[in-house]
Amino acid sequence: MPARILILDEHVTRRITLAARLSGDFYDIQVAASPGEALALARHWHPQVVMLAEDLRLMPSGRFIQSLRADPLLSEVTIFVITAPGAQVGRTGLLAAGADEILSRAEPEEVFRARLRAHDRARDTLETLKFRGGPQDPPGLAEPALQFTGLGRIVALPPDAETGRSWQNRLGRMPGLKLELAWQLPPGLCPGQDSPAEAPPRCGLFLLSARADAEQASLRRLAALESWRDRLDSEVLLLAPGCSVRLRARAYDLGASAVMDGPFDAEEIAARLRRLHGRLMQRRQLHAELSEGMRASVTDPLTGLSNRRFALPRLARAAREAAQEARPFAVLLPDIDHFKAVNDRHGHAAGDRTLQSVARILKDSLRAEDVVARIGGEEFLILLPDTGPEAARHVADRLCASVRDRMRAQGLPAPDQAVTISVGLTFGLAGRRDPAQLLADADAALYRAKHAGRDQVALHPGPESGPGKVIPFSN
Ligand code: GH3
Ligand code: MG
Ligand code: MG
Repeated sequence: MPARILILDEHVTRRITLAARLSGDFYDIQVAASPGEALALARHWHPQVVMLAEDLRLMPSGRFIQSLRADPLLSEVTIFVITAPGAQVGRTGLLAAGADEILSRAEPEEVFRARLRAHDRARDTLETLKFRGGPQDPPGLAEPALQFTGLGRIVALPPDAETGRSWQNRLGRMPGLKLELAWQLPPGLCPGQDSPAEAPPRCGLFLLSARADAEQASLRRLAALESWRDRLDSEVLLLAPGCSVRLRARAYDLGASAVMDGPFDAEEIAARLRRLHGRLMQRRQLHAELSEGMRASVTDPLTGLSNRRFALPRLARAAREAAQEARPFAVLLPDIDHFKAVNDRHGHAAGDRTLQSVARILKDSLRAEDVVARIGGEEFLILLPDTGPEAARHVADRLCASVRDRMRAQGLPAPDQAVTISVGLTFGLAGRRDPAQLLADADAALYRAKHAGRDQVALHPGPESGPGKVIPFSN
């Protein structure tokens, strides 16, 4: 979807010129003539990008940026500040206020568009992470704002040792900024690099430089870094003093997060790294929430075991793989005996504790590769991969005994109340691949174990038993 761009400039000719410049790229554009008008429009229209002139008369541009960042609905908008050609003053302040890019009105078309595309991509990535994470409250309302707690280490890739030392001298004094020099990319990734080096990390903040007298080689280095780094978990700031328009545009398209073409300015570099760090932290937080959300969606909150949503597809997969590879696996359905009586006599809370204990005993009695899930109130599903009939019977038998003995030893839910399970058991062998049928068979076996007196295991089909006959091998 084309981005919505809001242009704020008090000069009518300049805002019309900028709008005309962008219109060919199918962006959706609105213009505002004053900060007040721009804020009202932004709150109503929710642009993805705001481009504002640096020289606002009615409000300092830094303050306008802060008002955007302070508004929960606008705090994530991409902010470009458009300056007079050659302006270098005040850039750090604008970046610290929250600007994403500062670019000259005279910025060549090619670079201007490449910068915009780079920000479009970064925003798309963020949107994708949010979308996968499900519905969210507006940022800033639900979660505490990301705190700036220092940048950690920056992996600096200067072109040579001497430049590296100079960077360290000039940047090392910046608060919270720790430079780790690693001017070699992994061997083989970077042509012209002979001595093998310890590979830099793939994640974090990277500071790289390009040289005006070796642009092609500089682009190759950037491309090598791009293929090396984890793009979701890193950002790259490229220093390209005096480099050509072509190099800067290519650098953005190759994946650089930001390109600085002015003279070396330690303050501005630190400000830009802080901004990129904020972006990186935001993605990490979303990613962590996403992983936690995925884990929670397949976990039973009471027992911490997997839930039905996780276990049934695993059963289907195990059945498919067993059929394809002619490997056996076993399906067990344990169910707590007379559990209703536990609740009735000792209360629901004691019932919950009993469920948690039984779950732990089952989990502790099995291998890491076995799947143990709670698929109903007091009913569990266990998958034992690569397990043939004899071994599975043995395991099922052991589970019955463990629950009986350990619950008694724990005195749960009360010293005079025994807790036992009955287990229905069936096998997935080559040719038996219908998961619904496997479950139905295990359920039929469970039913028979209950009828035969509980606290035991029954098998379906029972090869040596004939249909319908219980094999009580627990007692
Ligand atoms: P059977 O030996 O035939 O399996 O008898 P049962 O009493 O275990 O089986 P029934 O299906 O009659 O009762 C199951 C009980 O499990 C009823 C329900 O209240 C209880 N239950 C289901 N989920 C939970 C839960 O999360 N916590 C507690 N405390 N009880 C639960
Ligand atoms: Mg029961
Ligand atoms: Mg039941």
